[in-house]
Amino acid sequence: MADVPGDKSLDVVVIGGGAAGLNGALMLARSRRSVLVIDSGAPRNAPAEGVHGLLGRDGMSPVELLERGRAEVRGYGGQVVAGEVHSISRDENAFAVSLADGRSFGARRVLVASGLVDELPDLPGLRARWGRDVLHCPYCHGWEVRDQAIGVLATGTRAVHQALLFRQLSADVILFQHIVPLLSEDEAKQLRARQIRVITGEVVSLQVDNDHLAGVRLADGTVVSRDVLSVVPRMIARADFLAPLGLLMAEHPSGLGEHIPADPTGRTQVSGVWVAGNVTDIAAQVGASAAAGALAAADINADLVDEDARWAIDAAPAPIRR
Ligand SMILES: Cc1cc2nc3c(=O)[nH]c(=O)nc-3n(C[C@H](O)[C@H](O)[C@H](O)COP(=O)(O)OP(=O)(O)OC[C@H]3O[C@@H](n4cnc5c(N)ncnc54)[C@H](O)[C@@H]3O)c2cc1C
Repeated sequence: MADVPGDKSLDVVVIGGGAAGLNGALMLARSRRSVLVIDSGAPRNAPAEGVHGLLGRDGMSPVELLERGRAEVRGYGGQVVAGEVHSISRDENAFAVSLADGRSFGARRVLVASGLVDELPDLPGLRARWGRDVLHCPYCHGWEVRDQAIGVLATGTRAVHQALLFRQLSADVILFQHIVPLLSEDEAKQLRARQIRVITGEVVSLQVDNDHLAGVRLADGTVVSRDVLSVVPRMIARADFLAPLGLLMAEHPSGLGEHIPADPTGRTQVSGVWVAGNVTDIAAQVGASAAAGALAAADINADLVDEDARWAIDAAPAPIRR
């Protein structure tokens, strides 16, 4: 990534160069806005081999998708740099976006597209399998694991729904009740009707052979053979750096994590700051995140167009009175 010298003031700084941030930057650069994307290089789907369910790009590697996105942004004069945003402050007219390495950039508006962190169940070996044979999303990887032996690790209220989703993809689904309290009669009925076995007892680790998941080990030592384990992570927006602006994370209405609330165009409660993608919509996949980035960018451009017009009126010479 190229570096941007000095503290030149920009129309927009975009924080995060995933699908949301890059699509936002693309729209802004095409609107002849000076835009800089700052990206720390850790997109959420990095462990996955391919991006699925994305029309026209199904199966493309996440790395290649973002490489193409950066090239497209640069093709219209947008800038993309590597770096981690540490804090943001504002004075009357502009934001100052500061990086962990000491650089700072001034901007009239900020688009935050920094994604989220998946908090995974604390089981030995589980994180190393994340995105490979420990999965969360039937739409991202479900087709790839169809007809395999799938386990669903219950960690919260969504476990039964998750098991039913994966049952659509394989006839061999086991729900590991793990640490979750007893199922309701309705839930048990649904599982029985769909031939999903329930195994009680705490899961203590994963059995991995030759770099493949082989099974799930229970506290009593039993290993239940499984090809794939599905978990529901808790999803937490990556947005601590917004706190000094008074923009705080809130519990997401789904109960599945924390996000930065915003209106449908991505406007936050802090004037001049927009959010897009997983940082606000924790359920958004790549297509929805990219679309949200584009929508927020259009709203930012509209806001800047209004401000440009106000500035032009203020700067115009007063009419000569005779
Ligand atoms: C294992 C896995 C597989 C998935 N597979 C699919 C799939 O097949 N299809 C699909 O549609 N969706 C998939 N998803 C969901 C997909 O990852 C998200 O929808 C998508 O990444 C959201 O895009 P985003 O731009 O909001 O965030 P991200 O892609 O996470 O991008 C955020 C960017 O911001 C950067 N960043 C964070 N903090 C800072 C900071 N302080 N300063 C600078 N930069 C920062 C990060 O490094 C990152 O590059 C998958 C998710 C996971 C976990």
